[in-house]
Amino acid sequence: MKVISIVNQKGGVGKTTTAVNFASYFAQAGKRVLLIDLDPQGNATTGVGIEKNELEYSTYDVIVSGKNINECVISGKYNNLDILPSKIDLAGAEIELVGKMSRESKLKKKLENVKEMYDTVIVDCPPSLGLLTLNSLTASNYVIVPIQCEFYALEGLSQLINTINLVKSELNPLLDIGGILLTMFDSRIKLSDEVEKEVRGYFKEKVLKSVIPRNIKLSEAPSYGQPIEMYAASSKGAHAYKEAAKEVIDSGIA
Ligand code: ATP
Ligand code: MG
Repeated sequence: MKVISIVNQKGGVGKTTTAVNFASYFAQAGKRVLLIDLDPQGNATTGVGIEKNELEYSTYDVIVSGKNINECVISGKYNNLDILPSKIDLAGAEIELVGKMSRESKLKKKLENVKEMYDTVIVDCPPSLGLLTLNSLTASNYVIVPIQCEFYALEGLSQLINTINLVKSELNPLLDIGGILLTMFDSRIKLSDEVEKEVRGYFKEKVLKSVIPRNIKLSEAPSYGQPIEMYAASSKGAHAYKEAAKEVIDSGIA
């Protein structure tokens, strides 16, 4: 079982879109996938068509209340794709975990119980480097960092890299950067090209060859509770995420 964190503490860079669509394409490629929504906003949960108000259990119950993952997952409507959903109660976890023993390792421990059940676990992280994200990094083999091709794209990246290195040295020596994914690329805007050049210059071969364009279908799909392949399979956004997912599988990360 490979565990992949989708992380960037910057908000709105495409983490959830990447988590939902990678999960969907990995599942279609035959992997048994668990998508974990680790963001109290619950956008990944909504993005795969799960109604947050109707949840009995959520990620909160696994991380804080000691429930097992398999008691709380939902086998959504897509083959090979289970979801550990979240809702706003997860916001309290950041504070409730502070006083607990092994507070960074809660998720890692819970994942051990399901390691025979899944091939790939994708964790959609919140836009912060708090305890929830630390739990994800501690439990992961790989990090995928979506970077939005816009102004300030690189701001905060050194802090993110420092955090990854710290987790690697203190909590999880297995952790590695699996890929940097350029998102919301707009070929009409010169800045997109500049950001791409800068990111490739810095992260070299860690940057996925596939680039995700800014695409209206990608922004519409969540409101229908569908991954892009179900919502608009022939859109540019679908092609790009399919290619990127293939790259990640081919490189042995997923
Ligand atoms: P947060 O930090 O709040 O969790 P995020 O990093 O998860 O945000 P998303 O929710 O994936 O980012 O994307 C932010 C917004 O941009 C959403 O409305 C999403 O639908 C839209 N979006 C994401 N990727 C694209 C894209 N390639 N083209 C057009 N819109 C996109
Ligand atoms: Mg998100």
